Amino acid sequence: MIAFGPVPSRRLGMSLGINNIPPKICTYSCVYCQIGNTLKLDIKRQEFYDPQEVFESVKERVEEVQEKGTKIDYLSFVPDGEPTLDLNLGREIELLKNLGIKIAVITNASLLWMEEVRRDLMGADWVCVKVDAISRDVFKRVDRPHGRLSHEQILQGIARFSGEFKGELVSETMLVKGINDSEGELEGIARYLSGLELSRSYIMVPIRPPAETWAEAPGEDVLNMAYMIFKEYGLKPELLTGAERGSFGFSGDVVEDILATSAVHPMRKESVQELLDKAGKGWDVVQSLIEAGELKEVKYRGKTFYMRTLRKPDK
Ligand code: SF4
Repeated sequence: MIAFGPVPSRRLGMSLGINNIPPKICTYSCVYCQIGNTLKLDIKRQEFYDPQEVFESVKERVEEVQEKGTKIDYLSFVPDGEPTLDLNLGREIELLKNLGIKIAVITNASLLWMEEVRRDLMGADWVCVKVDAISRDVFKRVDRPHGRLSHEQILQGIARFSGEFKGELVSETMLVKGINDSEGELEGIARYLSGLELSRSYIMVPIRPPAETWAEAPGEDVLNMAYMIFKEYGLKPELLTGAERGSFGFSGDVVEDILATSAVHPMRKESVQELLDKAGKGWDVVQSLIEAGELKEVKYRGKTFYMRTLRKPDK
């Protein structure tokens, strides 16, 4: 199926997905990939579907959804592989723009060093680029790229795209325990990202069963450190860890506020206290959230922060 959803997405609101790549062709074989291992590791762009077919399929789905009164915020290229491997991506974006809905592309950015790929993406309104590593060996271990890809060239390509793109550019960094979560690597990633024109930098962890079962999320303390380092470099980080999903099983606005906020931005102790004061509640609220395993206290450079407890990947 080429068009699917829409599904609610934290980043994009109601997002109607476009699957323009057959499963699973990618330039990477990331250890954390939720689609499983890459079946065809490739860097050659090719035609997969007729652009008109993609357009008709999406148009049909949009009409069905809109008839039911559901608003679609984005048409998003989020395929079972790397969307820029599609030689017709630019044409498809051009056609889809006629539907009057914003277009998003989530890419691993490995082909942005190619001028035609950057050109294809120019028509999009929102593009997310993946930067999981700054060191070449870490990059190889986490993203397991096609042998003909050069990490330096990829980083240069992203920087170039950032300078040319007129839409909204965001980054995503998936952290895997023991691979790309050291302080030095995080600093390097943050330094690099700070040179781009980014409206947000998402920090993610594997939340669905990964390609390699050993690819685990780092602990909350490391995640908090990543967040703080990104902030120190002037980025606008947000955590996207799956912890923001689901009901909390607690009542009361202040509890919801603390859990919802700390799932995205770790909260300083003072900010938590402020919220409690405003609601006329005591610190026992925080204590019971910690005891219930919903909230975690973490330290960074001598300061105390509270963040939503990470969930284990869905089975
Ligand atoms: S780039 Fe995306 S689709 Fe490709 S292997 Fe990595 S996570 Fe999977």
